[in-house]
This record gives sequence, structure tokens and C-alpha cells, in this order.
Amino acid sequence: MDIFKKLDVEKDTHSKNSLEIKEKVKCLIIGSGPAGYTAAIYASRANLNPVLYTGLQMGGQLTTTTDVDNYPGYPGGISGPKMMEDFKRQAERFGADVRFGIATSVDFSGRTHKVTFDDNKVVEADAVIIATGATAKYLGLESETRYAGMGVSACATCDGFFYKGKTVAVVGGGDTAAEEATYLAGLCKKVYLIVRRHELRASKAMQNKVFKSLNIEILWEHQTIDLFGENGVEGATLIKKKGTPEEETVKIKIDGFFLAIGHTPNSDVFKEYLETDQVGYIKTIPGTSKTNVEGVFAAGDVQDPHYRQAVTAAGSGCMAAIDAERYLSELK
Ligand code: FAD
Ligand code: NAP
Repeated sequence: MDIFKKLDVEKDTHSKNSLEIKEKVKCLIIGSGPAGYTAAIYASRANLNPVLYTGLQMGGQLTTTTDVDNYPGYPGGISGPKMMEDFKRQAERFGADVRFGIATSVDFSGRTHKVTFDDNKVVEADAVIIATGATAKYLGLESETRYAGMGVSACATCDGFFYKGKTVAVVGGGDTAAEEATYLAGLCKKVYLIVRRHELRASKAMQNKVFKSLNIEILWEHQTIDLFGENGVEGATLIKKKGTPEEETVKIKIDGFFLAIGHTPNSDVFKEYLETDQVGYIKTIPGTSKTNVEGVFAAGDVQDPHYRQAVTAAGSGCMAAIDAERYLSELK
């Protein structure tokens, strides 16, 4: 794609090391998950000529999964990568300019917003839609990577169905872990909740749900050190009461291993200008995609500590494009 074909293009040769390209666009979208591509579909159809930068993970989190069975419109399910390819094709069909590049810094201090990609390409935009997603935290075990898509998951709502009637483990002690364990308890024969301390961090209401579920067994003061299995997860090795005289190694048989130890929203690059919550989720005005900076909108997981689903991300991408369109029409 010729990046000089769009709008006002100005080359700035004053940059020290490399060519710095300045380009002015109406609507810039950062991120190529369901939120970014949906924003691109709506923004193109509203004649905003959106330019979308994909980031390192073209297609977003769903490109790391096999079957997506809960996205409306695909009655037989669809593979994550194929679904995201469809999103991209749909956005391009209406003229969205999809490019590879990572936002490395921003300047949201003026009325025109500046975003630098790959440390050397500056794009100026009247409206910016941030759709950079969130990344689930993992324990960092080699076996988590080995069994990715083969029994290891960070999303019970997404993958729980595949473990109907089976035995699974959930790691974590917060609200997400409690919620995911309770959800899985409704589907699975047995759920181990692996908690590293002697108490849960989850709210009392969520704790009560866990305690009331007869098929959840809490493994207090346990830490996972390995996963094992021939062609997928068949069990986990845990250490109980690590560092105490009662320390012992425990093995449990499981079919699935769910991480619920938190997510990291991909918002670092924007934090100098945008308000975030304690975890780093970008704050939006409730019921809108508007951030604290005029003309900067946020959609999808990067602003959503609660739902983090493809369909909610896509919905909020639509909201962001409509909010951007209204903002731009008032600028004229
Ligand atoms: P993401 O999909 O996370 O996309 C973020 C995008 O931002 C990526 O393209 C990335 O490259 C880009 N980006 C990040 N930083 C930068 C940067 N600095 N510059 C430029 N671009 C950047 N949900 C469901 O509804 N159903 C499922 O079955 C399902 N299965 C899942 C399975 C797995 C293994 C995982 C991890 C998640 C699953 N989810 C599922 C959750 C779903 O994937 C997310 O809710 C959804 O992808 C969020 O969309 P998003 O557009 O907000 O962000
Ligand atoms: P969280 O509150 O940060 O909890 C993370 C949990 O994972 C903690 O119990 C933590 O243990 C554990 N943990 C972290 N690293 C670990 C490791 N390496 N090994 C083992 N355990 C580890 O995250 P969250 O549960 O995702 O919740 C995030 C926010 O969303 C919270 O504010 C929560 O209230 C909110 N939320 C709300 C709801 C709801 O209201 N329905 C649902 C989900 C989330 P320690 O306790 O020992 O630190």
C-alpha cells in the first residue's frame, strides 16, 4: 500500500536518524482486533477515510484461538484467524486503509493529535480511535506455551464449553477467578480453584458463589509449577505451602487449565495523556467511547475491565466510529 496516496503528505527530513513522515488523516484507528476493524467498517462507510494500524498482532487476540462459537452470525462456529480475516476484508471493502505499524508514542496536547508509529512515522489525525486490546497474564511456565490451544486458556467464557463434563483448574483468587470458576462449575464435572494465598481477593459476593458451588474444590496456598500430558493437558503439578515445613508436591488430573490472574490493558503508550483506572484500563465517559481528551476515543478490551468479549469489543468499536463521526462533523 502506498502510504503517500492519502490526504496531505509531507516529508520531514529533519529527523536525526531516519526519515520522519508526517501525514494528516481525518480518522486514525490503532489496533486490528474486533474493535479496531469494526470502527474501520463504520468510519469508512461514514466517509472518514480511516487509516488503521494493525500493531504486532494483526487480527488481535482471536488469532490465537481455534474455534469461536459465541459470535453471532456464525451458526457453525468459525476459526479465530478466519473470522478476523473476514473483519479485515469487510473494512477494506469500504475503503479502510489497513497498514502494519506499532504506535510507539503519542502527543495528544493539541487539537490535532499526533501518533508516532515504529518510532519514525508521525501521523496527525483529527480523531483517534484506540483499540489496542488487553493481554491476559500467564504464570510464565514453559508448559503454558507448549499447551496453548491444547488445554490452556485465559478465557472461560470463550473456551469453557469445550470442557463440558470434564475436570478443569482455574488459577487466581480475584473476582475474575471466582467468576470463571463459578461459570465453569455450571459446565464441568469438577473445578479446582488454585489459590496462592490462604484467602481470596474476590469480593464477598463472588466468594459466596464459589463456596456455594459443590463441585468447586479450593486448593489453598498452592502454586502451579508445571503442566503435563501426552497430546494436551492431562494434569498439573503444584506445590502446597511453598517454603514452609509442610511444603509438599501435589499432582492433580485435569483436562483444562484456565488462567485468571488478571489482564494488562495495552494502554502504556497513551498514559501520559489519558486517564486510566488503577489497572490501566482507559476511562471512557459511561455510555460513550469518549476519553478525557477531545477527539480521542477508546474501544474494546483496552477500556473494558468487565466483559472482554469479541462481540462487546466490536460493539464498542461501532460506538467509537459514530462518536468520532459526530465529533468531526462538529469540528467543521
Ligand atoms: P484485541 O483483539 O486484543 O486486539 C488488539 C489489537 O491492538 C491487536 O491488533 C494489536 O496488534 C493492536 N495493538 C496493541 N498495541 C498496539 C500498538 N501500540 N500499536 C498498534 N496496534 C496495537 N472472545 C469471544 O467473544 N469469543 C471467544 O471465543 C473468544 N476466545 C478467546 C480466546 C483466546 C485465547 C483469547 C486470548 C481471547 C478470546 N476472546 C474471545 C476474547 C476476545 O479475543 C477479546 O475480547 C477481543 O479480541 C478484544 O478485541 P479488541 O479489538 O479490543 O482487542
Ligand atoms: P485481580 O483482582 O488483580 O486478582 C488477580 C488474582 O490473581 C489475585 O488473587 C492474585 O493473587 C492472583 N495472582 C496474580 N498473579 C498470580 C500468580 N503469578 N500466581 C498465582 N496467582 C496469581 O484481577 P481480576 O480478578 O482479573 O480482577 C481485576 C479487576 O476487575 C478487579 O478490580 C475486580 O474487582 C474486577 N472484576 C470484577 C468482576 C465483577 O464484579 N463481577 C469480575 C471480574 C473482575 P493475590 O490475591 O495473592 O494477589
